[in-house]
Amino acid sequence: MTLADFPRHSLMFGPSPVHPLNRLSDHLGGARIWAKREDVSSGLAYGGNKVRKLEYLVPDALAQGADTLVSIGGVQSNHTRQVAAVAAHLGMKAVLVQEQWVDWPDSVNDRVGNIMLSRIMGADVRLSPSGFGIGFKDSWKQAIADVEERGGTPYAIPAGASDHPLGGHGFANWAHEVAAQEEALGVFFDTIVVCSVTGSTHAGMIAGFADLAENFGGKPRRVIGIDASAKIDETRAQVARIARRTAASIEVGREISDEEITVLEGWAGNFYGIPVESTDAAIHLTGRLEGVILDPVYEGKSMAGLIDLVTSGEIAKDSTVLYAHLGGQPALNAYSARYH
Ligand SMILES: *Cc1c(COP(=O)(O)O)cnc(C)c1O
Repeated sequence: MTLADFPRHSLMFGPSPVHPLNRLSDHLGGARIWAKREDVSSGLAYGGNKVRKLEYLVPDALAQGADTLVSIGGVQSNHTRQVAAVAAHLGMKAVLVQEQWVDWPDSVNDRVGNIMLSRIMGADVRLSPSGFGIGFKDSWKQAIADVEERGGTPYAIPAGASDHPLGGHGFANWAHEVAAQEEALGVFFDTIVVCSVTGSTHAGMIAGFADLAENFGGKPRRVIGIDASAKIDETRAQVARIARRTAASIEVGREISDEEITVLEGWAGNFYGIPVESTDAAIHLTGRLEGVILDPVYEGKSMAGLIDLVTSGEIAKDSTVLYAHLGGQPALNAYSARYH
């Protein structure tokens, strides 16, 4: 099956908007920078990149007769909030396991932002003491078993919707969307910068752009992932695995080479979810120059990477860069102690 043959359940307003960041570009004095905005692409609970991924999981869930989406993430997970929103939108239930992925002392951490929104949308929110990890956990198996016990039909969605056969398809489709927008705008983005943690956003892009180059006459380009998990080896392995799996699934027709998998470290700090100086600087700079809000867990870190790569010339002056803004702003509320 090619990508177009996979069923997709529309959950967004349409293609996510693309626009230039002129004041940031001028300030950095190098490449021209544009943004593609997953954070404003859907009316479902502030949207974000997981909504786009879920467009390909929902038809599978519906085909299986599921009535409850079960998923997992940190306490301030954007992903679980988007699962809660999609479940509400579809008239399904949601059970969310929220783990202690981040040792963050903000007193309202488990009461504001994403977790509050999930509660408002009627999800069964369960706080669990387990630490950071993107694997399968007992608490998660328990949540699935609980749904079955009460006669429901669960549909299991792993952390970030990544470790799922359809997890990469949403952002493979993003690549095709970019190509159509480039045509309409008369631009070509030679470099994409994207935040990477559970991996299927970046991996889907790699597979999608390989598909474009291989089967639709697209020009090659760089897709640079910026690690925000502070576990670079795991992120790289996960991106490589999902990119290859997705490329095979959508019949790209060739292998994904190691050179196509670029996940850079240096901006995550020591821990997932804990901002460092460069994160805060990127958040303030983008806010003050563009009125665009970034979060301290993901986008602040990927923007810090973009700023350094443009400033150092590693992204050349004549480059046109597309920054994938993946959402995440609701988590800012849980970091009030840092930004006041
Ligand atoms: C989940 C998320 C990411 C990371 O995407 P992955 O597919 O997990 O690598 C980046 N930014 C935001 C705002 C997210 O919610």
